[in-house]
Amino acid sequence: MPSIHTTDILEQVERLAPDLTRFIQEAVRIPSLPGHEQEFQGFLAGRLLELGMKVTVSRVRREALAGHPAFCDDDIPFDQRLNVIGRWPGRGGGRSLILNGHADVVSPGAEELWSDSPWSGKLDNGCIYGRGSTDMKGGLAAAVYAMESLRRLGYQPGGDVIFESVVGEESGGCGTLATIIDGCRADAAIIMEPTRLQLAHVQSGALTFRLTVPGRAVHACMRNRGVSAIEKFYTLLQALSEFDARRHREQHHDVYPDPRQVAPISIGKISAGDWPSTVPDRLVAEGRFGVFPGEKIDKAKAAFAALIGETAGSDDWLARHPPALEWVEGQFEPGETAADAPILAVLGKAHAEVLGEAAQRTGVTYGSDLRLFTNYAAMPAVLYGPGDVLHAHVVDESIAVAEVVQATKVLALTIVRWCGGGAGEEG
Ligand SMILES: [Zn+2]
Repeated sequence: MPSIHTTDILEQVERLAPDLTRFIQEAVRIPSLPGHEQEFQGFLAGRLLELGMKVTVSRVRREALAGHPAFCDDDIPFDQRLNVIGRWPGRGGGRSLILNGHADVVSPGAEELWSDSPWSGKLDNGCIYGRGSTDMKGGLAAAVYAMESLRRLGYQPGGDVIFESVVGEESGGCGTLATIIDGCRADAAIIMEPTRLQLAHVQSGALTFRLTVPGRAVHACMRNRGVSAIEKFYTLLQALSEFDARRHREQHHDVYPDPRQVAPISIGKISAGDWPSTVPDRLVAEGRFGVFPGEKIDKAKAAFAALIGETAGSDDWLARHPPALEWVEGQFEPGETAADAPILAVLGKAHAEVLGEAAQRTGVTYGSDLRLFTNYAAMPAVLYGPGDVLHAHVVDESIAVAEVVQATKVLALTIVRWCGGGAGEEG
């Protein structure tokens, strides 16, 4: 089959930029809050059918996921949660590729804080505004229009191109996990999360913990006769802060931009006491404990528990009244694709051709579906997409159309180089 010229691909994407812009606007105007993604998924399925893809809409079933070690139960009803998978069958002789993105968007919060409706899809000064524009309808649009551009050039892939729009990413990844349990595999996966067009192939993990610290209540006028749970917690907090610094000194990951912030520990919530003039007899703290890439969850948990135990042991009160440690809610493992994985080289080369500069490699400190591909499907996976995670989950979220166009070009070149094939007569 004749090969396709790079300049033809780049020009085709440029020609489709107005359509791409409208597509993102329409996508943002459909609120796809967790558990309510079905209308958006229907919209996307229609678009994939227009592309001539074989489309499967499948309900994510709790029964199929329960019992899997990576399943995080997010308490969202499963009756309306639909994954959409489009398959562009290869003609053989090439590598297969999954393009994965999530349909769900987080709540817009207090709508009055927004300059316009969170679902406006307003285009202003080259940016499209609305919840989900950056995270991650811009990325989904880039993948759809990469395929559209190639289709218009008569391209037929060698290996399969599989587009996945999944639910439940923001609350633990049930959508992608369902595709993996169903056996959906490829030679590599690109997840179009907002990475500012950097190649993020390493992801930290995170665990949520609850610490209950006992004290002894007494009237505040006699405070030395009681034990303040708040003051005892302060001792533990200082120890956690030193533990965090020590872990970051001992575990290096060159790919992260800030070596002191790879897998942070942070307390997000505390509650104690119920009366201003009573010494509090109980404090409950909840927080997030980061897990380094390559670190085993069980070992990380054991180190954390040992730290709490040792700190309590060196305090007269806490030694006799030890704090209780519980692991609650979701537990997100770290994930990693080897730096020499071929997909990183192919994607990086396409990026360099489009942007005129080498792609930066990075690691991310947040959880994503990358870990599910690397840990449970034995697949190399990388996050790569338009937009900045700093602009995700915020009021007046927006995406720059020009950056989505760049991502579209890079993805189109990557599909051709990775999957092989070329321009052939319609099959
Ligand atoms: Zn996201």
